Amino acid sequence: MINWNTITDEAAQILSDYLKIQSLNPPGDERETAEFLSNLLSERGLKVKTYTSAPNRINLLARLPGDGSKKPILLYNHMDVVEANPEFWSCDPFGGEIRDGYVWGRGAIDMKGMGIMQLLALELLQRYHPERTRDIIFFAAADEEKGGAHGTQWMIENHWSEIEAEYIWDEGGFGLQDFFGPTPVFTVAVTEKKDLWLKLIAHGDPGHSGMPHDSNAANILLKALNQVLKLNAKYEVHPVTKMMFAEIGNIMTFPKSFLLKNLQNSIIFRLIQPVLTSDPTIAATMKDTLSITVLRAGSKENVIPDRAEATLDIRLLPDRDPAVFLKKLKKLIDDERVEIDIVQYPEEATISDMNSEFYQTLGGVLKELVPESITAPMLTPGTTDSCFFRRKGVNCYGLFPAIIDPGELAGFHGIDERISVENLRLGIQITYEVLRRMCTQQ
Ligand SMILES: [Zn+2]
Repeated sequence: MINWNTITDEAAQILSDYLKIQSLNPPGDERETAEFLSNLLSERGLKVKTYTSAPNRINLLARLPGDGSKKPILLYNHMDVVEANPEFWSCDPFGGEIRDGYVWGRGAIDMKGMGIMQLLALELLQRYHPERTRDIIFFAAADEEKGGAHGTQWMIENHWSEIEAEYIWDEGGFGLQDFFGPTPVFTVAVTEKKDLWLKLIAHGDPGHSGMPHDSNAANILLKALNQVLKLNAKYEVHPVTKMMFAEIGNIMTFPKSFLLKNLQNSIIFRLIQPVLTSDPTIAATMKDTLSITVLRAGSKENVIPDRAEATLDIRLLPDRDPAVFLKKLKKLIDDERVEIDIVQYPEEATISDMNSEFYQTLGGVLKELVPESITAPMLTPGTTDSCFFRRKGVNCYGLFPAIIDPGELAGFHGIDERISVENLRLGIQITYEVLRRMCTQQ
């Protein structure tokens, strides 16, 4: 019999220690976190291998072997975290405090907490289910928060033969309470938006600013940006978003239930769209977005700059063709003096199979462990390392396996990041139960 109280206490203690390691990215250094996880996994008898992708950048794979009759499942987590300014926190972001039923610290949700849930679920499988049909791979990645060049991308390029999983369990969606209403909704990310990063470079002529002229690069750039901001994308419902709202419609009362289930009707969509898109997260899943993120021009008060630059972060819906978007942008700017440089061009984005054994098993486990909940597929407006695995043709599912309230959700890249001890327990239970069903003959 599994003693869940003991496991939960252990999880809280381990996570507290893990959160004390400041694995900030930038600058990016996973040596200490990799050693920490490596010790924990080895102590539990799991084989660990680490990979150095660049100085101080470490990736880690551990494998719980099966008999090989089925292909592996990969449990993904990343070891790096984003910055945290202690001035705004109610506790030390790297203190690993356990207080009021929560474990506090940068990375509790994104995503050290999930890494620890996975690690303890693996231990339970090893102890209680020695006969397994497939390998389970624990992958602790470097460099997720800066794009994955030293992490997942590098591992796929250099060590794919050691991964070759059938399914990837990643972050991306959450169990959300008091977001769509009191009923917990598990949103499972099955696809994501595509990043198109551009640099606009305006070329002009230098000169004395006391005698202004028309080819001031700053003026040229501002004009172009003004045009770019007119690119007001229309809201629309992607098929995955339509499925998500149809599921959520099931827990609503009339007329909301009717409206959510019939979003494909353009009159209904026009009626309800302002309500749906009043939430910025939901709004971002329903259109292409564009943000100006970096601006650079000039260096002296009295000199007209001959060069000015702006960086654009564009997030396209999964079915968009970036080439078409670029063409439209060029036409809108309509100025030969503005060069469009591609910083990052997205690849094809696919949708992971919602009829797969993994997705169906996950849904079944969630219903059993949290009977009042519903599960819905989701298009995530953010980007995760799943995009790299999906390009390899692997089905990836993004779910933080716990039910978080708006306060916990706000800590994600925000202040006072924390996870409840209760959620650690639920997370280990969900992970263990899904894996047990996926890798043993029940
Ligand atoms: Zn993350």
